[in-house]
Amino acid sequence: MSFTRPWSPGDHVLLREVLNCKVLSARPQIVVEDTPDLLALWLPPRTIWMKPDGRDDPVGGRLAGDWNISPIAWDGEGLLRLTKPGALYSVLVLWSHGREAVDRWYINLEDPLRRTSFGFEFLDQLLDIVVAGDRQSWRWKDEDEFECAVKAGLLTRQLADGFRRAADDALTAVLGRVPPFEDHWATWSPDPAWVLPRLPDGWDRL
Ligand code: MG
Repeated sequence: MSFTRPWSPGDHVLLREVLNCKVLSARPQIVVEDTPDLLALWLPPRTIWMKPDGRDDPVGGRLAGDWNISPIAWDGEGLLRLTKPGALYSVLVLWSHGREAVDRWYINLEDPLRRTSFGFEFLDQLLDIVVAGDRQSWRWKDEDEFECAVKAGLLTRQLADGFRRAADDALTAVLGRVPPFEDHWATWSPDPAWVLPRLPDGWDRL
């Protein structure tokens, strides 16, 4: 079945990661924008989401398929996820305490988001780039885990090379403030009328 209808601003959706027919994470989110050029999702502070354990060894956990997930409140000022439909990455905007400035533009390498009846599914691909809030500096994150995942056979070298190229493209776009990653997102704020999204019934049903 395919789900093609765009969501409306303010809709509550579920963003879920699934690996080997098992839920890896589940985050209720609010739709900011869902257009052919951009999917923007907001994860408000204190939202209860399902987080996997074993983050100190995600490759081992994925190989063994033996992670547990448990509810936890989102810590921090919230997270705005900007995704170009079909891209192998999203840009996560995270603010400093008090939301005075962007703390970092976090490039998250991932499988393209797929639409489902309740929202979206994807799989994080471990590799990340952390760009400073002022976009003057950046660094790789979890390159070692990513290489470990390739060596362990979680993804092929060919796929890994594709993610590397996507990472380069993402970095060029973020550093260059290329749409849809312009500076206006730094001062974006959620609709004050929005309420916290909740995990819907059946969040763990496949
Ligand atoms: Mg990641």
